[in-house]
Amino acid sequence: MGKSFDIGLERLTGTGAPETEALEASDQGTQAGVPVPQGSTFYLETFGCQMNDHDSEKVAGVLLARGYRQVDGPEAAKVILYNTCSIREKAAQKVFSRLGELRPAEERNGKSFNTEDTEEEHRGHGEENGALSRSAQARVPVPQEPKHPSQRKIVNAGGGKIIGVLGCVAQQEGEGIFERAPWVSLVCGSASYRKLPQLIAELEAGNRRVTGLDTDTDETFETEITRRDNPWRAYLTIIEGCDKACSYCVVPFTRGPERSRASASILEEVRRLAEAGYSEVQLLGQTVNSYADPSARKMRFSELLAAVAEVRGIRRVRFTTSHPRDFGKDIVEAIEAHPTICDHVHLPVQSGSTAVLRAMARTYSREEYLEKIGLIKAARRPISITTDMIVGFPGETEKDFEETLTLLDEVQYDSVFAFKYSPRPNTPSLKMADAIPEEEKGRRLAILMDRQREIQRVKNERLVGETFEVLVDGKSRRENQWSGHTSSNRVMNFTSPERELLGDYVQVKVVSAMPNSLVGEMIGWA
Ligand code: SAM
Ligand code: SF4
Repeated sequence: MGKSFDIGLERLTGTGAPETEALEASDQGTQAGVPVPQGSTFYLETFGCQMNDHDSEKVAGVLLARGYRQVDGPEAAKVILYNTCSIREKAAQKVFSRLGELRPAEERNGKSFNTEDTEEEHRGHGEENGALSRSAQARVPVPQEPKHPSQRKIVNAGGGKIIGVLGCVAQQEGEGIFERAPWVSLVCGSASYRKLPQLIAELEAGNRRVTGLDTDTDETFETEITRRDNPWRAYLTIIEGCDKACSYCVVPFTRGPERSRASASILEEVRRLAEAGYSEVQLLGQTVNSYADPSARKMRFSELLAAVAEVRGIRRVRFTTSHPRDFGKDIVEAIEAHPTICDHVHLPVQSGSTAVLRAMARTYSREEYLEKIGLIKAARRPISITTDMIVGFPGETEKDFEETLTLLDEVQYDSVFAFKYSPRPNTPSLKMADAIPEEEKGRRLAILMDRQREIQRVKNERLVGETFEVLVDGKSRRENQWSGHTSSNRVMNFTSPERELLGDYVQVKVVSAMPNSLVGEMIGWA
């Protein structure tokens, strides 16, 4: 996000240890009848998508409620947790790199531990490959620190530390993690997070190893005790898992089947969030618009969007990620009818070639996807469109790739997250013929990004002179410099002589533009 804005944004909050923890319920103490050892501390590092970020908020909430205190490095922690991502191979390798740093001294003697990690890929929260901008998944600004604290030191996992692997790598590798890194004692996939307090209690009671690896649950991971990392934007998972079975994707294996949360419970939480001062909510799901209300109300996703938008105090509603198959006119109509719903749809296409889409099992053709884009473009107010793309899928010909490039020209996306295809365990595409060499994938990725960068440059330059409402979420160390996001999720860096703006909505006039961000000056309050 906003990588070209070089004014050194201050860290406001993050996955480390916040100064003040915004714990939603304050039942600090013990749970499950097991007393927490005095002075217990935890360190939690998150990799991957926003759903992982939000899961980590919930995990932190659960631990804080048990009486644990969060610390900002593994050295000082009694419990060290990695919430992991396995969407692409390099994301998964990072975790083993971290685990290697925690190897106890006795384990290091004479033994090698191959992490296969390439640090060039580490950029904090899952920014890999060709993400031109993180604006579609914007988060609280985190400075571009060269190294995470845990990268700087080898921490000895001896001395009674509990090391846990959570999330997609946990689900994918299962108990194999104990073999690869015997100093790990907790392995728990996201579909089993409801069991986390119980698993932690078992470890506290002296158990050496515990696992939570079921995916056949119909429950979602909802907890009363979420510790939220962003003071203005609250994330809310409304649907977990995925039933879509794209041929390249591990998510259906690692996050289990689709299961939605009851609409009344979602709306109740949104009301509580608004009362607590959150003005923006972001509804999350791997396929958020496949939401199927399990309650008797049977609210459609578009109705839920509208109902969330009507909650008093909520000024912005975002939702991600939408699957093209389930994207209908009713969603565009909900956006049109409710200015509170942001002018932005993230609609991953993956490829511009119908042949490749078929091999990917995406369930739509190029033409069908373009029909959905047509619905968005026909809206009464401009809605920005962003997407995900994969290059170098097995069998992708030069002609297929050319069709992806012409799709860029045709749709004129506001931002694109592009990835080199990464073969993943258990997925049908792993066995497909005609693998594309890494070098060729890299070449295609670079071409795609160049083409898209030019599109964004031209589109953003057209915005010079226009005024946007901006939610201010970053402050520079430089005098008078601020940053925030427009409703269309563009990063806006702007000047203002005001002393305090964080969390405010202001009007900003654009004075210049770059491919990934706008530069403006504040002209008033929104
Ligand atoms: N559920 C969302 C959807 O269907 O668009 C996206 C979920 S996934 C966490 C985010 C993106 O990662 C996907 O849209 C896809 O572009 C990319 N991705 C998933 N599996 C991949 C793989 N094996 N290789 C490269 N990119 C992959
Ligand atoms: Fe993965 Fe496809 Fe499900 Fe998205 S829709 S999470 S890409 S299987």
